Amino acid sequence: MISTQELIRLIKGPIAVAEPLAPYTGLRIGGTADYFIKPRDRADLCRAFGYFRERGLPFFILGRGSRLLVHEEGFRGTVIATHYLDRIVVDGEMVEADAGASIPAIADRAAKASLGGLGRFGRAAGTVGGALCRIDGSPVKEAGECLEWVDVLRNGRVRRLKNGELHASMGTQGIEADVILGAGFRLHKVSGRNRPAAPGHPPDTGAAHSRALSGRVFRDPAPQSGSGPSSAAELLDACGLRGATRGGASFSDGDPNRILNNGAASSEDVLELVRHASEEVRQRFGVVLELGLVLVRNNRNGTHVPFS
Ligand SMILES: Cc1cc2nc3c(=O)[nH]c(=O)nc-3n(C[C@H](O)[C@H](O)[C@H](O)COP(=O)(O)OP(=O)(O)OC[C@H]3O[C@@H](n4cnc5c(N)ncnc54)[C@H](O)[C@@H]3O)c2cc1C
Repeated sequence: MISTQELIRLIKGPIAVAEPLAPYTGLRIGGTADYFIKPRDRADLCRAFGYFRERGLPFFILGRGSRLLVHEEGFRGTVIATHYLDRIVVDGEMVEADAGASIPAIADRAAKASLGGLGRFGRAAGTVGGALCRIDGSPVKEAGECLEWVDVLRNGRVRRLKNGELHASMGTQGIEADVILGAGFRLHKVSGRNRPAAPGHPPDTGAAHSRALSGRVFRDPAPQSGSGPSSAAELLDACGLRGATRGGASFSDGDPNRILNNGAASSEDVLELVRHASEEVRQRFGVVLELGLVLVRNNRNGTHVPFS
């Protein structure tokens, strides 16, 4: 059981009880979490992680929530949010960012310092921690060229992964770590026509934005032979799913691999849309799409389990 007094003594950041999660997710859907903690800094984040891990209590780390679909029943556990870990430092051609720094903010700072080289990483949504954690390996590999180091908490130890160790850690399941604490990006000066434009990334889906839009719904499948549609977005588009709607949820007209909450969508609306799209793509192209969204819901044991 959680001792609120003990938590207050241990954690410097604010601790809320019965906090609604919807405002912290891209889709703005979901019930409450029993506890909601915002660690002040890396040490605070590590202490919070250690507290719940050692006691076997249910918890998860939250970035900008662009990948989360939270059930209306909420989460009977603790959410540890990285919102205060948003430091970005530009030093020459190096950009250092803490886990909770938003990628659009990093792209913005890099563009203002005439630094290029973020590549596709600079167009991603969410936070550094959410992008580099073990959820989706292929984008992590895409970030490989500009990543100089990644600080992680692994088996209770803070470590800086660099060079060969960093690349060895980038498996198909992302960077192996319990928590991503921050990352360093080596960029390069660009001038004149090559200067990076102010961020051309898709709209951020973080809580500070008004549009209720998810991050990527499906992961990109392994490359297929032939010249047909290959990315998840192309496959969805080819099935005519751009704009498809279930209840209050629709695939975005702009990027068919994102879902918009039109105002009153439920988690079930989103899941129905997901099931429908998976089936269409499977029938038409024989491709089984993997879900990129992380499903969060309480179960009877209070553990963090997927729902379907
Ligand atoms: C090169 C590249 C290109 C990408 N392109 C796109 C794109 O075009 N469109 C798109 O939608 N997405 C793209 N992504 C993925 C996108 O960046 C991530 O989905 C996003 O960063 C998730 O961040 P978030 O803060 O919203 O995570 P959340 O939705 O808050 O969390 C997602 C998962 O990450 C875990 N997590 C969050 N922070 C941490 C942490 N510090 N340590 C450990 N686990 C953590 C959560 O527990 C949860 O399981 C790309 C990623 C990369 C690397």
